[in-house]
Amino acid sequence: MVYSYRLKLKHYFWIAVVLITVLSVVLPGRTQQNISFDSLFQTSTVSALAAGVYDGETTFKELKNYGNFGLGTVNALDGEMIGLDGKFYQVKSNGVAYTIPDSTKTSFAAVTFFKSEKVINLQGTMNYQQMQQSLERQLPTKNFPYAIRIQGTFPYLKVRSVGKQTPPYRPLVDVAKDQSIFELKNVRGTLVGFRTPNYMQGINVSGYHLHFITENRKTGGHLLDGKFQNVQVEIDAKSDIKIALPKTTQFEQADLEDDKAAEVNKIK
Ligand SMILES: [Zn+2]
Repeated sequence: MVYSYRLKLKHYFWIAVVLITVLSVVLPGRTQQNISFDSLFQTSTVSALAAGVYDGETTFKELKNYGNFGLGTVNALDGEMIGLDGKFYQVKSNGVAYTIPDSTKTSFAAVTFFKSEKVINLQGTMNYQQMQQSLERQLPTKNFPYAIRIQGTFPYLKVRSVGKQTPPYRPLVDVAKDQSIFELKNVRGTLVGFRTPNYMQGINVSGYHLHFITENRKTGGHLLDGKFQNVQVEIDAKSDIKIALPKTTQFEQADLEDDKAAEVNKIK
């Protein structure tokens, strides 16, 4: 009797060893599967945002699994969102940047794990449009979306934010008419954003989309224009795109048949 009892214990011990070994191999593998360092992840689409779908179901806690860098907004279109170094901020229409709680949800966000692959030096002084033209000439290819980071001191930046909305939601183009505009001079901070190929129009905005956050994380917003001097632009090409569409009545019932994103290009 004593002998067989010991045998059982031995069996349990070895079953436990095998289970722990298998789980330690399988579980980390699963986590890594969700975090691809070359993927651009976004919630909802710009067309839906343009149509007034201002409530999403993804929390910032969930969003952090897909990136430490990016831009977008929060539910009810309550300001401009900036993600940098794993922290997420919203610049509300009063121009103040707040840290976003993990439980807050987003209606539109594009995030990635930023890895500086190439630095493009732009010599001279230029406005936002000239900076875009200059960058266009130096991109390795225009067929991948790029995450873009520009750190430095900027002589002048013109940024905007939008106010929190209440249902029934108006289209984004109407809301943008009430935007707050802020002018920042000799300001240190980081521009965070993306350049998206034309073929993604509707899913995202085509071309450049940048948000700014000051070094002290006190203010920022969606970039409208600026004066740039000898900037270093860091880029990171993304070959893998993931889109999570909101399974909400608001999204289901939105009219996305028209080219709503084209309207957004007028206000970006
Ligand atoms: Zn924006």
